[in-house]
Amino acid sequence: MSLAKRAAVVTGSTSGIGLAYARALAAEGANVVINGFGDKDAIEKERAGIEKDFGVKCLYDGADMSKPAEIAAMIGNAEKALGSVDVLVNNAGIQFVSPVEDFPIEKWDQIIAINLSSAFHTIRAAAPGMKARKWGRIINTASAHSLVASPFKSAYVSAKHGIAGLTKTVALEVATFGVTVNCISPGYVWTPLVEKQIPDTMKARNMTKEQVMNDVLLAAQPTKQFVTVEQVAALAIFLCSDAAANITGANISMDGGWTAA
Ligand code: NAD
Repeated sequence: MSLAKRAAVVTGSTSGIGLAYARALAAEGANVVINGFGDKDAIEKERAGIEKDFGVKCLYDGADMSKPAEIAAMIGNAEKALGSVDVLVNNAGIQFVSPVEDFPIEKWDQIIAINLSSAFHTIRAAAPGMKARKWGRIINTASAHSLVASPFKSAYVSAKHGIAGLTKTVALEVATFGVTVNCISPGYVWTPLVEKQIPDTMKARNMTKEQVMNDVLLAAQPTKQFVTVEQVAALAIFLCSDAAANITGANISMDGGWTAA
């Protein structure tokens, strides 16, 4: 129970990778705030399940990661309810696939807000407490798309390259305060986010579902396997450990060899 008495906030944790982070942090004894959208009853089931399975406090905050005031309130409320925010995982993210000339302006703005700016707003609110307590872990879910591009994902690739830069910058600013800041860059992880982009990619590339899965998604991944949410969460737990105290400003790939090619 390496994180007993620590408190964690995980954005975008009602589904996919975020939910796996929240459960893994709770398994290490941390109290957690989960966040994200979805069916009210399903979210309550996940929240109560975390409390029951791991014997920790788990709160739900429905803050919209495209709204700076809601983000600041979420961090403030977490500090009040749990005493601190020691681990901050910026994970909320959406995708939209379209040729750049047809890319809807509001989709561009939304992706930059949720996938990039939300991390600025959470960090801005949580960093003072971490610095004052001389301990903190900030983990940003970037992507292989923080290092390389794919066509038709202009906003997503731009946001993910941005979050890699934000990670490095903040890591330097808090380096002497016992606070580390890193990003994890998964390749394709089998989650609803990946599943949902298949129809648009089929349209943009004029392909069948099987062709998109094998020739677009797993084509990039030399292992020919999707990364699992549990593998990503296990790396986050390592980054929270004392053994990882000197890993900061890093962009750690977990992409089945994608960016080695
Ligand atoms: P997902 O769709 O399963 O989960 C996304 C989460 O973000 C959900 O909880 C959703 O409710 C939440 N969310 C969306 N918009 C929000 C908003 N405005 N405010 C608050 N919450 C919001 O997706 P996932 O695959 O688990 O993705 C999680 C993160 O991992 C994203 O940042 C994504 O870019 C990144 N990522 C995913 C993959 C992959 O292959 N799945 C690969 C690399 C990086």
